[in-house]
Amino acid sequence: MQQVETLILGAGAAGLFCGARVAQRGRSVLVLDHSKKPAEKVRISGGGRCNFTNLETEANRFLSNNPHFAKSALARYTPWDFCSLMAEHGLTWHEKTLGQLFCDQKSGAVIQLLLDELANAGGELRLETSIHAVVHEHGSFIAQTSLGPIRAEHLVVATGGLSIPKMGATAFAYELAEQFGHDIVTPRPALVPFTFTDDHRDAFADMSGVSVPVEACATSGPSFVENLLFTHRGLSGPSILQISSYWHQGEPVEIDLLPGTHALSLLQEAKTNAPKQTLVQCLSEHLPARLSTYLAAQAHRGPQTRLAELSNQQIDHIAQMLKSWSLKPAGTEGWRTAEVTAGGVATDALSSRTMESQIQPGLFFIGECVDVTGWLGGYNFQWAWASAAAAAGVA
Ligand SMILES: Cc1cc2nc3c(=O)[nH]c(=O)nc-3n(C[C@H](O)[C@H](O)[C@H](O)COP(=O)(O)OP(=O)(O)OC[C@H]3O[C@@H](n4cnc5c(N)ncnc54)[C@H](O)[C@@H]3O)c2cc1C
Repeated sequence: MQQVETLILGAGAAGLFCGARVAQRGRSVLVLDHSKKPAEKVRISGGGRCNFTNLETEANRFLSNNPHFAKSALARYTPWDFCSLMAEHGLTWHEKTLGQLFCDQKSGAVIQLLLDELANAGGELRLETSIHAVVHEHGSFIAQTSLGPIRAEHLVVATGGLSIPKMGATAFAYELAEQFGHDIVTPRPALVPFTFTDDHRDAFADMSGVSVPVEACATSGPSFVENLLFTHRGLSGPSILQISSYWHQGEPVEIDLLPGTHALSLLQEAKTNAPKQTLVQCLSEHLPARLSTYLAAQAHRGPQTRLAELSNQQIDHIAQMLKSWSLKPAGTEGWRTAEVTAGGVATDALSSRTMESQIQPGLFFIGECVDVTGWLGGYNFQWAWASAAAAAGVA
């Protein structure tokens, strides 16, 4: 039987990085993945430029049933630690917005960095390998795989979440965790566009492609000032993806279409200074024309309605709509397009210092399969690096 000190399941961001760091400690490491290529999500991330971290990383930018769980790992492996590694490999980066660091090179360069780190430390990677079953007996793990049985002292599970099944996502980590007695926080699609009912969808179809800066929030969770994008199915864009992680079925979402602007004063002043201006013209000075036409219709005003024709009550109503436009999504686009999975292996039986199971010593869960989900903007890779580094200290 093949023997290895540390067996890592999943060759994504977390698994490869953990493998490299464990191998650097001098341990024998084998990383297995059922896909043809490693770290495919790194390749498609950040529009092909991998938004590999965020300078504003703090535990409060992550969702988890235990909001304190991520603190220790994030504090011990910081965004600058990964930047240093990038620099060592000759890679460069730039900050796009809101602390988001993107690779100047294509995201394939980050995959190569991970593969080089693993290989240089003597770690082995085997792709297109299925894992049929895992048991723990006589002090070690035995994985039944398409390569045959493999015995390992330590087992690190880094097989990710359920998002984008066509890229090889499986429920493997959750099933294995349950087998060893861990609870699972029900996984749900996160960082995902909203879909709408037929009525809204028809209206939004005319605005497909329109992007506008807004402040959006779900019933619970923080609000996000970023762009909203109308799609032919509903709503997307960074502000919507961010609030989708906090949204629950049946709840409305609230959108301020003029963040930082006092809409009532704006309309009242416009009515005083330019009474002949149409409502659509007035709105179009601050919002895209197609959205302005839609909003005027929502306020039961035709495109030719002049500001002078609006009563104070009507102006008040329109201002309210601009500041707190409430919409009820029918649902989300689901696993097909969700960037990440919220929920996962419950943190209550994991060590926050090492990611080791408190039920089964020697078993570790890292990366997206754990119930720690970052905001949009490089936070999820930072969690992959930090949780991998935490586990690699002892795994
Ligand atoms: C389109 C898109 C863009 C994204 N962009 C960004 C971004 O710019 N910045 C950011 O921070 N995050 C981004 N993310 C999120 C980020 O990609 C993930 O959070 C991160 O990849 C998680 O790393 P991981 O190693 O835990 O899991 P994964 O990267 O999902 O890796 C898991 C690995 O396990 C393998 N695997 C799964 N099941 C099995 C099984 N049963 N047997 C064997 N192998 C298995 C998979 O093939 C995969 O290689 C993006 C996600 C998507 C989908």
